[in-house]
Amino acid sequence: MSSKQLTDFLSENLNELKSKGLYNVIDPLQGANGPVITIAGKEYINLSSNNYLGLATDARLIQAAVEAVNVYGAGAGAVRTINGTLDVHVQLEEKLAEFKKTEAVVVYQSGFNCNMAAISAVMDQNDAILSDELNHASIIEGCRLSKAKIIRYSHSDMDDLRIKAKAAKESGLYKKLMVITDGVFSMDGDIAKLPEIIDIAAEYDLITYVDDAHGSGVLGSGAGTVKHFGLSDQVDFQIGTLSKAIGVVGGYVAGKRELIDWLKARSKPFLFSTSLPAAAVAPCIVAIDIIKTSPDLMGRLWGNGNLLKKGLQDLGFDIGKSETPITPCIIADEKMTQLFSKRLYEEGVYAKAIVFPTVPKGGGRIRNMPTAAHTPLMLEKALSVYEKVGKELKLI
Ligand SMILES: *Cc1c(COP(=O)(O)O)cnc(C)c1O
Repeated sequence: MSSKQLTDFLSENLNELKSKGLYNVIDPLQGANGPVITIAGKEYINLSSNNYLGLATDARLIQAAVEAVNVYGAGAGAVRTINGTLDVHVQLEEKLAEFKKTEAVVVYQSGFNCNMAAISAVMDQNDAILSDELNHASIIEGCRLSKAKIIRYSHSDMDDLRIKAKAAKESGLYKKLMVITDGVFSMDGDIAKLPEIIDIAAEYDLITYVDDAHGSGVLGSGAGTVKHFGLSDQVDFQIGTLSKAIGVVGGYVAGKRELIDWLKARSKPFLFSTSLPAAAVAPCIVAIDIIKTSPDLMGRLWGNGNLLKKGLQDLGFDIGKSETPITPCIIADEKMTQLFSKRLYEEGVYAKAIVFPTVPKGGGRIRNMPTAAHTPLMLEKALSVYEKVGKELKLI
């Protein structure tokens, strides 16, 4: 029998979410997360994946995964520090370090795990972290885990960052100070002002930490936002994910050799959670090679992003201030956003409503994620559905 305290808590809170239209129903895909997906036997144009370059279904990655399963088996068998470090883990780390132009890299089981691992391995209750208010949930959780004082600054507001960095420095209250930002902000698609952040960091002696989950494979010849700004040797922690543009799963920290040595010695998910299976690692190695040698893939991604953005704008939608292929269509009201997404779905377009708490209240939006794998025809079809639903709901 379950505890009454728990059943009361769950029913109360679940009902509240449902009544506010904030309860997310999850639709399982039948098959791959490609540009067209199948749900309950019906096909949809997919505008909701992070599979930016279409690599999740690339034949070369699939073959690498199959070969790795045959050689290494299904699982890695242990944590990295016991004997779960396979030679493919080391090969991937070396390849990523070369790609990111840093001394070394450590790979984790996910991007989320990187932030759980890296922040608390370096920062503690004697320290403070300056954190952009729109940073990803995993950064916020990672900061909390470290027990450092969290000082939020207004989104990409460099005056606010400077004032708060100066105050933190001059207070003498903290031993170490860090500034953390997303490289590309995932809900709006805008790029962090890294050159200014680096200047402020130099002025107030801040450790710098950039989570480039949405920048890798998209900006800076694929190496991300830091490379895009030519700052590869000036950022202490560069976080990347292998789950988005790379098309598989996993995350990594790129930085100086000593930092990576320390993370391998002290970060909890490296020490206490089983390493990625070879079938996930081997295709990542192939993906990095593909990104390095096929600039046309990124060209197609940006071309598709521009097509979708222009199309939505021409229809009269508010697409916010994205500087990347991430294309929000801002509806504002939560319930209208949910209804809009539901109508798109009924018309064959899978584009998820993003509402509070993922974005601020009143900031409801449909988040469109074009990829290199979409054909222009798919995107034009999606735009005609947007037009139909937008007119029907009197939004355009
Ligand atoms: C998606 C994302 C993550 C999580 O990455 P996973 O590999 O999916 O766990 C971490 N940080 C940021 C900024 C992200 O956008």
